[in-house]
Amino acid sequence: MLSARAASLKPSATLAITAKEKTLRAQGLDIVGFGAGEPDFDTPMHIKKAAINAILDGFTKYTPVGGIEPLKDAIIDKFKRDSDLEFKREEVVVTVGGKHALYNLFQAIFQPGDEVIVPSPFWVSYPPMIELAGAKPVIVETFEEEEYQLTGDMLEKVITPKTKGIILNYPSNPVGSIFYLENLEKIGKIAVERGIYLISDEIYDKITYDGYTHTSIASLGHPIREMTIITHAVSKTYSMTGWRIGYAAGPKEIIQALTNIQSQSTSNPTSIAQVAAEAALTGPQDFVQTMVAAFLKRRDYLVSGLKQIEGVTCFNPKGAFYVFPCFKNVIGRSYKGRKVNNITEFTGILLEDFHVAVVPGIEFGKEGYLRLSFATSMENIEKGLGRIQKAVAALD
Ligand SMILES: *Cc1c(COP(=O)(O)O)cnc(C)c1O
Repeated sequence: MLSARAASLKPSATLAITAKEKTLRAQGLDIVGFGAGEPDFDTPMHIKKAAINAILDGFTKYTPVGGIEPLKDAIIDKFKRDSDLEFKREEVVVTVGGKHALYNLFQAIFQPGDEVIVPSPFWVSYPPMIELAGAKPVIVETFEEEEYQLTGDMLEKVITPKTKGIILNYPSNPVGSIFYLENLEKIGKIAVERGIYLISDEIYDKITYDGYTHTSIASLGHPIREMTIITHAVSKTYSMTGWRIGYAAGPKEIIQALTNIQSQSTSNPTSIAQVAAEAALTGPQDFVQTMVAAFLKRRDYLVSGLKQIEGVTCFNPKGAFYVFPCFKNVIGRSYKGRKVNNITEFTGILLEDFHVAVVPGIEFGKEGYLRLSFATSMENIEKGLGRIQKAVAALD
């Protein structure tokens, strides 16, 4: 019999939809997929070459559990360069992707009885990962009309003596929202006063638009920094999702605990991929600009196309590569004589009859919305938009 822990666990909704998309495609159907949670660019050549050379040089054995020193140093330089944050090697750990950094971190700091505040819409894996550590996710809803801000007042309402952590993810997946500086400062102040950890998932820090540049909450003063653990990865910035290299930076004792968990589970992340990640962080950065420029064009096209659909509103993302339009208007209408009761049913219609794959917002904690990734070609975006427009027009 399965453990209660495993029995109650659902597979990641986004990965599940991508899998269904692939199955339909394998049957010969022309599916436009907006489900992708990864850039559609190839990993840059200099990164691939670094990995090939690592293999040829025989760099194929165990490395230190928490990562090789040259990669740790490259991560330290990245934080200095981008956020003016100084870390020592013992304050940084290399992990098997950003997800693994979060998972091990939660195992290191959360336990039964703890509450962890998660603003919604949230990245799908935060609540189950918190539960796997035995703690309880406490969801705080944020709103499109308020640009998805989490304010100090909203936080104060849900903080209890059991609150152990607050998850921050900006630019966010699924919305592409960012925090106003005044809200970040307020959140930081509350965390310091109450002794609550701030978990800052900064995986999209370099994928930003409209002149926005990322500010890490850890850079807002020493007391805030002492309560913050940043998680990150090379996955999204350098289109390296398959390489599985992430990292975390924060107070030494927490990083040590995280490393210990790693030493009893995965051991070190892949040696070859670590060398590739080092090349990504220390090498030329022009790839990132090229990718972001392509994303920006697609964002503009997709957001304006969605807004032209009757009744649809859409927050204009400031970062990441997702849009999160509101399709509440379709609920209660009917399709082929059958009532559309919720957005998940609507996404079923979109996939089966109009061959467009999108993720229902409820998977991110918000009913009435859809998440579309624009990490796909302009051609696909045009085609997919047309099909969504047709689907809405087909409703009575
Ligand atoms: C993609 C993603 C991650 C995980 O990235 P990996 O490095 O592939 O594990 C973590 N957080 C958010 C918000 C993401 O979108």
